[in-house]
Amino acid sequence: MRVELLAVGSELLLGDIVNTNAAWLGQRLAAAGIDVLRSVAVGDNVARIAECLTEALDRAAVVLVTGGLGPTQDDLTREALALAAGTSLARDPELERALRARFAAAGRRVPELNYRQADVPIGATALPNAAGSAPGLRLELAGGVVYALPGVPHEMETMFDAVVRPDLRRLAGDAATLVSRVLRTAGLWESAAAEALTAEVDRLEAAGNPTLAFLASGGQVRVRITAKAASPDAARALIAPVEERVRAALGPAVYGADGDTLAGVVHRLLLARDETVAVAESLTGGLLGAALTDEPGASATFRGGITAYATPLKAALLGVAEPVLAQRGPVSKKVATEMALGARDRLQATYGLALTGVAGPDEQDGHPVGSGYVGLATPSGTTTRTLALPGDRALIRAYAVVAALDLLRRHLAALSPVAGSREADG
Ligand code: ATP
Repeated sequence: MRVELLAVGSELLLGDIVNTNAAWLGQRLAAAGIDVLRSVAVGDNVARIAECLTEALDRAAVVLVTGGLGPTQDDLTREALALAAGTSLARDPELERALRARFAAAGRRVPELNYRQADVPIGATALPNAAGSAPGLRLELAGGVVYALPGVPHEMETMFDAVVRPDLRRLAGDAATLVSRVLRTAGLWESAAAEALTAEVDRLEAAGNPTLAFLASGGQVRVRITAKAASPDAARALIAPVEERVRAALGPAVYGADGDTLAGVVHRLLLARDETVAVAESLTGGLLGAALTDEPGASATFRGGITAYATPLKAALLGVAEPVLAQRGPVSKKVATEMALGARDRLQATYGLALTGVAGPDEQDGHPVGSGYVGLATPSGTTTRTLALPGDRALIRAYAVVAALDLLRRHLAALSPVAGSREADG
């Protein structure tokens, strides 16, 4: 069964709010094995909303509308539904009574405008709103069924789960289940991941199920495998061999799956070895420490951090040799190494992890924006990784945190480091 989404509200077009209702509905419908064909946003205009509805019903069996059910003059979904259905609005006495009771309970008289919420296109059924005042609507038209839900997210979500989802499952009859498995990688660009998986992508495109998608954000690439089958177990059985081949193709870049985080994986690896880490940060100003403390129970593996942003503090707080700072500058391999050694030593941890670099927007002492170094000090020596990161200041700093955590992860798991890493380099 094919579904389309129509979000009503000029504020969506003006960029004042983000269409999170579409994201939420997309996830819910996918989990129910229902295909969403298209998702559209339209402003508060009766003719345009009605036109979108008619067009959507030409393609899909069900259209889910969100928003425009409130009491004010710019809430026009009821009128648009009536226009698309070639009918008119009639006041529903039952809804009118419920509205009066709701206001009376709060000791208030119903404002005249609010009675609009008791207007229903002739032929439509009102859907109860357990979380608010605007009732939803269900209307069967020639092309299919329209559900109109409130715009307020928690009202929409409550009504969808209570009324619409069970209805859709009945309508869909043989609805299958979609199950997704997300493999998480670090140290790999999206294009490199796609290249490594070319053969798998071709194989899956030919078969059509499961499907593969690449999602890149915050310096990490996720590979999502989605299978459609009659039951979750059957879908998981389709995913298993694909997952095995994807893991083999991406190798050590895969650090976890589904809800895993890179910092969480590092934490568990340290915990298993009864070891700890301390950090020294310049470029990231505390973000690396923040990532490591996101994990509940972090105190068992995270000793602490020193944010030494000003160059003299790299010497004073971390013991970086002043001649090294003077000769090589704060953005250098040698300084990253000495910062890591300083964190390890002064904070009494098994490992010291350090970041220094240029977040931009301007280059620094001849070092381009996005350049920098991760230093790792271990009980047996030091490693550095050279960074050449793309993006703006926020992205560069996010990538740097991932690069640092990944350097430690690969060391702990005895995996091969990414290109640009050098053992005992200074
Ligand atoms: P109400 O009865 O509360 O007025 P409504 O059905 O009229 O609800 P709207 O007036 O269109 O809904 O939207 C109410 C609020 O809900 C918006 O101001 C916005 O904060 C939120 N909202 C509406 N549509 C969306 C959407 N697509 N995604 C996320 N939030 C939304």
